[in-house]
Amino acid sequence: MTDYLVVGSGLFGATFAYEAAKRGNHVQVIEKRDHIAGNIYTKEVEGIQVHQYGAHIFHTKMKDIWEYVQQFAEFNNYINSPIANYNGEIYNLPFNMNTFSKLWGVRTPAEAQAKIEEQKRNANVPEKPTNLEEQALSLVGTDIYEKLIKGYTEKQWGRKAVDLPSFIIRRIPVRFIYDNNYFSDPYQGIPKGGYTQIIEKMLADDLIDVKLNTDFFAHKEEYLNSGKRIIFTGMIDQFFDYALGELEYRSLRFETEIKDVDNYQGNAVVNYTDAEIPYTRVIEHKHFEFGKGNKGKTVVTHEYPKDWHRGDEPYYPVDNKQNRSLYKQYTDLVAEKADNVVFGGRLGQYRYYNMDQTIMSALRLVKTEFGE
Ligand code: FAD
Repeated sequence: MTDYLVVGSGLFGATFAYEAAKRGNHVQVIEKRDHIAGNIYTKEVEGIQVHQYGAHIFHTKMKDIWEYVQQFAEFNNYINSPIANYNGEIYNLPFNMNTFSKLWGVRTPAEAQAKIEEQKRNANVPEKPTNLEEQALSLVGTDIYEKLIKGYTEKQWGRKAVDLPSFIIRRIPVRFIYDNNYFSDPYQGIPKGGYTQIIEKMLADDLIDVKLNTDFFAHKEEYLNSGKRIIFTGMIDQFFDYALGELEYRSLRFETEIKDVDNYQGNAVVNYTDAEIPYTRVIEHKHFEFGKGNKGKTVVTHEYPKDWHRGDEPYYPVDNKQNRSLYKQYTDLVAEKADNVVFGGRLGQYRYYNMDQTIMSALRLVKTEFGE
């Protein structure tokens, strides 16, 4: 049996802890926040499960992961169908026949295709796009780009589209059917009663001890010398005291308020796609559970993207060549200086994992750790 120290009680750390305890190992979990569950944390307010760190929709192609997660919660059949608000004009997402008919009055796929092709030709972009703007124009033409992509992307990245590299948008899915289901995965839903219960159940084993409000870095040497095998799900660059330099992250600011209405915006997710409105999304949480909650009340969150500086929450790793190379250098340091530490999860592996990928990756670690 091994004694484990799991740093971080998010989905990765909790999945690992659950599986390790199931195999008879002792696991101490430390968490710097005052609650478990990392970024999938949900909390009940006015009878509504509020996604405290941004809208989380579970979706996956992997049947085994879908079945795995059902052990910990019953899921509803929520289908993500966000809408876009561009200066007050409302469009369906993802880009599909509903969007095209609203944009141009077209009715058939052939008409929509012809319109996009015409706009791509007229955009006059170089054959090899040199920036995100040219890339997007070459893929979907002017109207979709100007109304639904440009402002949103610029807010998300905090930079002009002409100053962003073209590879950020490799392809833009356009669907020539009337279908507002954002994801093409066969399994999708929201846990009835929120996500936190999943982590609670994962961490319920008597062999697991959870300590909140405990930052690994406050006692780093002590933990490293504890003889425990460490599963670290925090930031890998911070673990090494940024010795090789900082990895880049994007952060977010959430403003959440209770409103005295039953139904504020008629949809769980509304994207604001113009450049002037500073937030990117407005979430009305009750719609994830089909309107559950106290009568006359709703909870709404505005999501503002922002640059990341030390001390901010690192919500998104910035996937580019430079960061990938720096991350690789950090992983070389692991072998050299921290061979009893395994780095996992979104921050430890510096990967934009969705929840299903996070679980899959934790289960892979379980297999290698326990030689299965
Ligand atoms: P985290 O949830 O970040 O957990 C890491 C934990 O470690 C945190 O609790 C942190 O406090 C703790 N920690 C860090 N450093 C220390 C330290 N030094 N000491 C102690 N504790 C520490 N996925 C989907 O599938 N669908 C979605 O719709 C979706 N939407 C998302 C929206 C947003 C805004 C974000 C940011 C992510 C979204 N995701 C979504 C991804 C999903 O959140 C991740 O897949 C999942 O939360 C990753 O789990 P994790 O354990 O790797 O990381």
